[in-house]
Amino acid sequence: MPDYDVVVVGAGPAGSMTAKWAARNGAKVLMVEKRQEIGSPVRCGEGISRSWLDGVGIKLDGKSVAREVKGAKIVAPNGKAFYLSEKMAGNEVGIVIDRVFFDKLLAKDAVKAGADLMLKTSAVKLLKSGNKVAGVRVKSFGQTRDVKAGCVVGADGYESQVGRWAGIDTSLAPRDITSCFQYRLTNIRHEPDYCEFVLGSRAPGGYLWIFPKNEDTANVGIGMQLTKLKNPGDVKKHLDKFIEGDPRLRKGKPLELVSGAVSICAPIDKTVGNGILLVGDAARQIDPITGGGISNSCKAGKIAGEVLAKAAKERNFSEQSLWRYEKRWRDLLENHLYRNWMAKEKLVTLSDDTFNKIITALNEVGVEKMSTLAILKAIETRHPDLVREFQQFL
Ligand SMILES: Cc1cc2nc3c(=O)[nH]c(=O)nc-3n(C[C@H](O)[C@H](O)[C@H](O)COP(=O)(O)OP(=O)(O)OC[C@H]3O[C@@H](n4cnc5c(N)ncnc54)[C@H](O)[C@@H]3O)c2cc1C
Repeated sequence: MPDYDVVVVGAGPAGSMTAKWAARNGAKVLMVEKRQEIGSPVRCGEGISRSWLDGVGIKLDGKSVAREVKGAKIVAPNGKAFYLSEKMAGNEVGIVIDRVFFDKLLAKDAVKAGADLMLKTSAVKLLKSGNKVAGVRVKSFGQTRDVKAGCVVGADGYESQVGRWAGIDTSLAPRDITSCFQYRLTNIRHEPDYCEFVLGSRAPGGYLWIFPKNEDTANVGIGMQLTKLKNPGDVKKHLDKFIEGDPRLRKGKPLELVSGAVSICAPIDKTVGNGILLVGDAARQIDPITGGGISNSCKAGKIAGEVLAKAAKERNFSEQSLWRYEKRWRDLLENHLYRNWMAKEKLVTLSDDTFNKIITALNEVGVEKMSTLAILKAIETRHPDLVREFQQFL
């Protein structure tokens, strides 16, 4: 008999949402987290929109919200800006959260729903029985223990090992990786009501961001496509140069440093196997244009939890049974992820001059929504030549 129906590896947003929805629907769930404190240290710009929260049953508390913003400010290389209201600005704009509290809130919801939680506990190996994953070996305070489970969930983030251990291909080409560096910068004079995105060659193959935490403090960061880096230190150098060149930020002092990476790949071929399921960054469900992954992790986590609870009732964690998760998350997210990956492939080739023209066109025409399609349609009215290569999206 397994010790648990489901063992979730990783208590980030994807893991906690999976654990919550599986436990709430009757499954016996254990979540293991290698860190000693959930949510800390933060490796995130912390920008989300509010539009999807109700749909996945998240009710933010005061501590999880650092700042509510009015919208997005998109800045061209020539400094011209285009403003979008919060409702139109996509999945990363609306609220700048505090991940230390947000991640704990989600983990608390999972525990309230009945999931067990072990901190400072690392998954170190999958247990197998024939061609099926049958549990996980964990290490906790120097002790090793085998936990038998109907299904192991890899919610272990960008550096996921669980998928690899299970033989699921989650490998990434260098062009599908964005390397990031961020300061929590205080003593600055930013626009505290807008999440700012700076495009062009100041962040080759990516963008710079200023996400306000309060009146004088913001997460100021950069993401650069890995193939554009000559040395690993280049990403910090680009951010330092940007800060030095911006009079609003120049006097800022860092309260916190963050470095990390995000996947910007097309959806991977499969995320389930016999007794194994991947979710969130481990399943490469990040938006390839923005690098935002919190909303998709939560949406996919809810689906995973619901499917796993059904599988537990049926005592069937075969790949075929878990395919219901694969189908549901793809129905919800795959088209968008694929379209944005194709658009990203083009965006990383654009010159500063082209970005300048795009922002000018958006200001002249306006755009209803921050979607690839809406933006391309707006640009097409002024510069059909610029979108010729994007015809497949229109
Ligand atoms: C610099 C940066 C800025 C970002 N900014 C944004 C943003 O503004 N908005 C947005 O939506 N997204 C952003 N993202 C992406 C976002 O952080 C991720 O998409 C999100 O955290 C994914 O959640 P997750 O639960 O899949 O993974 P994670 O949040 O990474 O959680 C994985 C968890 O698994 C644990 N773990 C790993 N291995 C093991 C193991 N072997 N055993 C036990 N536990 C393990 C880890 O400790 C971690 O707690 C950013 C990412 C970076 C790097």
